[in-house]
Amino acid sequence: MIRIIKGDITKISDVDAIVNAANVSLLGGGGVDGAIHAAAGKGLLNECFLLNGCAVGQAKITGAYDLPCEYVIHTVGPVWKDGTEGEADLLTSCYKESLKIAKEKGIRKIAFPSISTGSYNYPISYAAFTAMSAVKAFIKENPDSFDLIEWILYDDMTYSIYNAEYIKFNEGF
Ligand code: ADP
Repeated sequence: MIRIIKGDITKISDVDAIVNAANVSLLGGGGVDGAIHAAAGKGLLNECFLLNGCAVGQAKITGAYDLPCEYVIHTVGPVWKDGTEGEADLLTSCYKESLKIAKEKGIRKIAFPSISTGSYNYPISYAAFTAMSAVKAFIKENPDSFDLIEWILYDDMTYSIYNAEYIKFNEGF
């Protein structure tokens, strides 16, 4: 099942893993990254220190510590420039690599935030389209690998834009 929810990803307890929109250092930042580190506690930062960062478009997995799920998958979204710098391919890669790691770990339920649309300035409607295209392509290649893939969207505008894209995609899912 694919769904769009308005909420705080640090509070989601009905998934095995949440995805963090991290930065290349993996050592915390603002936005959803800061919220995840604050809610997970020091253990998460300590484990992240061992990972040696993460390239844009890639993903790495850790435990979830004080969060109400089992794992955090950290992926680094592209900074939006003008759309001609490979942004869509990199954002697609974030979703694909996150789902690949999740599948390898036997994760069946996963929640994503809106990667790159905060401080990284990716236009929300383009990001929603790319996010859903990437998830749809992964499901097509890996049928039955997930029970739930959801987006947890923090603000009304992001939620309504993802919802509009979701409705367009709904038949295809
Ligand atoms: P990026 O650097 O990838 O742009 P940000 O964290 O700045 O990441 O923003 C990504 C999205 O995460 C934004 O839509 C922001 O509103 C949202 N966000 C911030 N805090 C939370 C949270 N606790 N749960 C879910 N989404 C959040």
